[in-house]
Formats: sequence, C-alpha cells, structure tokens
Amino acid sequence: MQKFFEENFPQQILINEPMKNHTSFKIGGPADILFLPQKISDIVSVIDFCKKNSIRYFVIGNGTNLLVSDNGFRGVIIKIGKNISQINLNGNEIEAGSGIFLSHLAKFALKNNLSGLEFAFGIPGTLGGAICMNAGAYGGEIKDVFVSAQILHDGQIKTYNDLNFSYRKSLIDENYVVLSAKIKLQNGNHDEIQKKMNEFSLKRRNSQPLNFPNAGSIFKRPKNNFAGKLIMEANLADYKIGGACVSSKHCGFIINTGNATAQNVLDLIHHIQKVVKDKFDVALETEIKFLE
Ligand SMILES: Cc1cc2nc3c(=O)[nH]c(=O)nc-3n(C[C@H](O)[C@H](O)[C@H](O)COP(=O)(O)OP(=O)(O)OC[C@H]3O[C@@H](n4cnc5c(N)ncnc54)[C@H](O)[C@@H]3O)c2cc1C
Repeated sequence: MQKFFEENFPQQILINEPMKNHTSFKIGGPADILFLPQKISDIVSVIDFCKKNSIRYFVIGNGTNLLVSDNGFRGVIIKIGKNISQINLNGNEIEAGSGIFLSHLAKFALKNNLSGLEFAFGIPGTLGGAICMNAGAYGGEIKDVFVSAQILHDGQIKTYNDLNFSYRKSLIDENYVVLSAKIKLQNGNHDEIQKKMNEFSLKRRNSQPLNFPNAGSIFKRPKNNFAGKLIMEANLADYKIGGACVSSKHCGFIINTGNATAQNVLDLIHHIQKVVKDKFDVALETEIKFLE
C-alpha cells in the first residue's frame, strides 16, 4: 500500500500519522496513512485503489466530531481540507468544495450580504462534515440552506438533491464522499448578519469550554430535554476518568485535560450514560463518531 502512495502521491501522505494531530479532541493513535488530496481526482483514484486492494479507508474533514481509538486506524484516512475548498457565487447560491471551513463560508456569505448561514459561524468543521452531520446551532441547520451536493458513491460522481436530513444525521456514511455542495441564502443586510454572527460567537465563548480540546456536544439532544442539563443534574460536572473530564462550563462537553486517552473518553461516556439512565430513565445517544 505504502508503495502506491509513495509513487503516486509522495507529497500528500503522512505515514503512521498520529490522529491526535487531526482531531479537535487531540486524541487518537496512528493512521497507517493519512492522505491529503489536492484535487477531486486524487480522492477518486485513492478510493478506487483502496477498494481494489481491500484496504479500509475513512474520510474526515476537520476532525471536530471524532473520537479516534488509541490504537489508531489500520488503513487510509482521507482528510479533505483547504485544497478542496474552491468557492463560487451565483446570485444567492454559493457552491463550495467540501473542505471549506464553515466559518469561512459564513464570512463569504457576510461579505456578499447573504443571510442564512449565521448559525454556522463558529462551528469548527468543514462543509463536508457539516453535511454528513446536518450540523446546526441556534435554530439553524445545514438542511435549511442545502440545495445539492456532488457525491462520490460506488465509483461514480453524482448530484444529490435530497440527503434524508434529520437531527444530526444524513444519508452520508462511509460509502459516500461529499465533494462539493450548493447552498441557497437570502439577500440580507450586512450589519444585521454581522450582528447575529457576533451574538452567536459570544454565546459560544460564554457557554463552551473552548480553552480545552473537545469535540463539541458528545450526546444528541434527548426528546424534550438537554443532555448537558441532565448530566449536570446527575452531579457529574467535573467528573473525571483519567484525563477526560465532564466540563463544568457545559456538561454536554467532555474535555481533554491534557493526557486523555480515547479509552478514558469512552469509559466516561459509558459512565454518564449509565448514571443518567438510572437517575432519569433517559438513554443518551452519542453524537460524536468513534473510529477504530
Ligand atoms: C468547540 C466545538 C463546537 C461545536 N459546535 C457544534 C454546533 O454548534 N453544532 C454542531 O452541529 N456541531 C458542532 N460541533 C461538532 C462538529 O464541529 C460538527 O459536527 C462538524 O460538522 C464536523 O465537521 P468536521 O469537518 O470536523 O467533520 P469530522 O469530525 O472530520 O467528521 C465527522 C463525520 O463527517 C464525515 N465527513 C467529514 N467530511 C466528509 C466528506 N467530505 N464526505 C463524507 N463524509 C464526511 C466523517 O466521515 C465523520 O463521519 C462542535 C465541535 C466543537 C469542537
């Protein structure tokens, strides 16, 4: 496998690359190969090679919703980032590569007086990750602005207009790669858009433990409730296993206090789930993805 990459993509690979360098949790053992595609055809040929040789692969964006095992990943991690982030404006539709940061996209919308993406400013992932997760905040979700996406599936690139979006979910799983997407916004007032973005940023800074590595909300919002509130009421604020700790600033977040392992985080997740189930009869479902 290494030979294929060294011959074809010598400048675009990292071998035995610690995944803690590519996740906002700063946790995760080595990936055999971390591949940084420069263009879409690179993604197509690497996936084709992996499939033909029965090599596992997994696509990531900015790693902000991911917990990677301490043993790392046997296979190829395809990290879609700034090389796949071209952006085009057509009226009030923006088409962008899936590696663009949501915050950049939101700033581009602001620059063009387009409203609808303010909620996404401050979500630290890429457009591809946001589509996979149907990311959302402060009353907005990607599905509200989504028009279509170019997706690689079964060796073919096709346009999809409907991705079965629901709460923090879409049809995108390991078998689909989002390459680019088109979103539709409304004409708006620059100052009002800016004001909303500032308000949301301030809310985040005031309510989230942004000074520690984390992966955002660990759990999905349970019906008619909030995971963070239940965890706080279960007296789990500051509860710690190894280096993983329930943030007292926002109990829905687990923070890495310095040397947390993936196992610490998993053990803490299971402990929280058990305590909350026993106390409130609510089953907390994880929002973050676990990769092993
Ligand atoms: C401080 C903080 C705050 C956060 N706040 C929010 C919030 O308010 N709302 C919210 O919804 N989330 C939030 N998150 C979580 C996270 O930022 C989002 O889920 C984001 O959309 C993930 O994007 P990513 O590029 O980092 O994806 P990754 O974490 O790299 O991947 C997440 C999933 O998407 C898949 N994926 C990524 N790119 C592609 C692609 N191009 N094609 C196919 N699949 C792909 C991966 O395979 C994986 O299954 C927060 C996280 C942090 C650390």
